[in-house]
Amino acid sequence: MTTTIHILPPALQSQIAAGEVLERPASAIKELVENSLDAGATVIDVTIDRGGQERILVQDNGQGIAEQELPLALTRHATSKIASMDDLLTISSFGFRGEALASIASVSRTLITSITPGAEQGAQIEVVHGKLGEIRPAALSRGTRIEVRDLFANVPVRLKFLKTMATEAKRCQETLAHLALAHLETSLSLTHNNREIFRFQGGETLQDRLQRIWPPSLMQGLVPIHHERGSMRITGLAGSPAQAQVRGNRIIFYVNGRPVKDKLLLHALRQGYKGTLLSKEYPQAVLFVELPANEVDVNVHPAKTEVRFMDEGAIFSLVQAGIRQGMEALLSETSAPAQTQSVREQTVDMTMPPPPARESDQVNLPSRNNTLYSEGAEHRPKFSSLHEAERLFSHHKRPERRPVSHVDHSVSHKETPPAPPLGSPAVVDQTRPSSGHSSSTHGYTYLGQFHRTYLILSKQNTLMLMDQHAAHERVLYHAFSTTGQQGEHQRLAIPQEMPLHPSEQEVVEAIWTDLSQIGFTLERPTPATLVIRAIPTSLATGEALNYLRTVLGEQTNNMDALWTTLACKSAIKAGHVLAYDEAMHLVETWLQCPDNQYCPHGRPVMLTWTVQELEKRFKRKP
Ligand code: ADP
Ligand code: MG
Repeated sequence: MTTTIHILPPALQSQIAAGEVLERPASAIKELVENSLDAGATVIDVTIDRGGQERILVQDNGQGIAEQELPLALTRHATSKIASMDDLLTISSFGFRGEALASIASVSRTLITSITPGAEQGAQIEVVHGKLGEIRPAALSRGTRIEVRDLFANVPVRLKFLKTMATEAKRCQETLAHLALAHLETSLSLTHNNREIFRFQGGETLQDRLQRIWPPSLMQGLVPIHHERGSMRITGLAGSPAQAQVRGNRIIFYVNGRPVKDKLLLHALRQGYKGTLLSKEYPQAVLFVELPANEVDVNVHPAKTEVRFMDEGAIFSLVQAGIRQGMEALLSETSAPAQTQSVREQTVDMTMPPPPARESDQVNLPSRNNTLYSEGAEHRPKFSSLHEAERLFSHHKRPERRPVSHVDHSVSHKETPPAPPLGSPAVVDQTRPSSGHSSSTHGYTYLGQFHRTYLILSKQNTLMLMDQHAAHERVLYHAFSTTGQQGEHQRLAIPQEMPLHPSEQEVVEAIWTDLSQIGFTLERPTPATLVIRAIPTSLATGEALNYLRTVLGEQTNNMDALWTTLACKSAIKAGHVLAYDEAMHLVETWLQCPDNQYCPHGRPVMLTWTVQELEKRFKRKP
């Protein structure tokens, strides 16, 4: 350490300052494209190589930089956008700090070529790690072209913090897409390693652009948001709670056109959804908040992604009310049956009860005569997944592999369980009382099934309702995570093909080995096609595609989330009549699981009432 106070050399000063504006290639792209937008460009093309680290090229058709101003544009605190502090109160441009270009140029080799309207020819200047070269004439017909090579080559610390090329490319893509969503009038394209990632045409709608970056299943559930309060306004699109996801990566806020990260806005958004989301669930939202420029401070951080509102309370209620209004409109719409169906079909939630069919409203009494799932029975268990859970749990010898033709398709999906034919073993005869056996495990007595969804149990002086899907999810999740789900799979007789949306292609790449560990055998003959050759043993064939759609759609990126969804898709659904043995077995295995009061998504598994509570409600006792 030095002992005297001294001023840092200019090069080091600017590298330190650059660190605040530039975290990664994506931040350079944001600054460069915002400059193009400020210059009135209507066409902006971005090209990157190796995640942007090797090269970023931004070309625009904006008003250009005059030859003599090139060195100024590269000087810190030099800007054409504001002249005084007061200008900040009415700022309409993205830039104003005059440090982005200087920062980028101090940590890369930057080549700027530009021409202003009316100029005879263009001009060019090269800057290497902050050192300006000569201004030279250059050929260019319009606008500005900025090429940034070897970003951070002279800042090893920064280099170390960069992620893989694919991850950095993804961030660049996301940053540019977020800018594109707020500038529908501008044409914008991105090319990575010579491959065009997207090309947005000027004049598209928000939906047009969004559907190129979000999977189709999400697009259908989006609700328009429009709400005004005084001089403030919120507009955009928000997802239905039914399609909530496990990550908050599809919440995009803009304040006066600027993409921002803001806790207050997030909190208000959640409040708008209050009562419809679980704590671990996130909605999708693209929201534009507009308010007079003098009521928001955009100069909080050099990267300008943070803002401060003068009247936080007003912004909070604006957002909350806007969302609430949208969701109420959705609710009244979805009470129409056709719509309900389509929205529901998108959801990953299989736990909703079936529409009240007459039979399912009755209680299915337990009966030992039911041999659907009896130990030692010759025939295969009806519910492959329950059986699977037991196998994983008790570490029984693995049963010989089920030929695929025997995979049980009767595991009903969605919410329209086929009503079992009368007299079929799946329906417990209601006219005959239970065989009179008191049926207990660990003090829990099974009394029957309600609504083909809830198991009625009692223990001492407590009455309980157990959600069979949630309980089974917990059992499977525990089994998967303790055994590591060692890739046991069943081959499909006929491989299934699944087209991949561009937004899904990178996710597939990222979780390829995880998927094979879980038991999938996959092939990718083309970037946009996935061929499924084998699936995890716990999944019914019909659910495999559903599972992949969900994990790819949610951009699942870790084993835990893959298991959670696998448990959800493999678990018995609401709407199943459970045989006595099955119900008992479920209760027994569930009792052995840690955290068994909640399913892996965080939904409760069990509701309970004590005798005392019942007596109160029946007004037997005060
Ligand atoms: P700021 O955007 O905060 O003014 P920058 O360092 O990003 O600071 O840019 C400095 C100046 O360079 C801008 O004020 C603008 O005059 C000019 N400039 C940068 N990029 C462009 C561009 N693509 N087209 C026209 N002018 C540009
Ligand atoms: Mg700028």
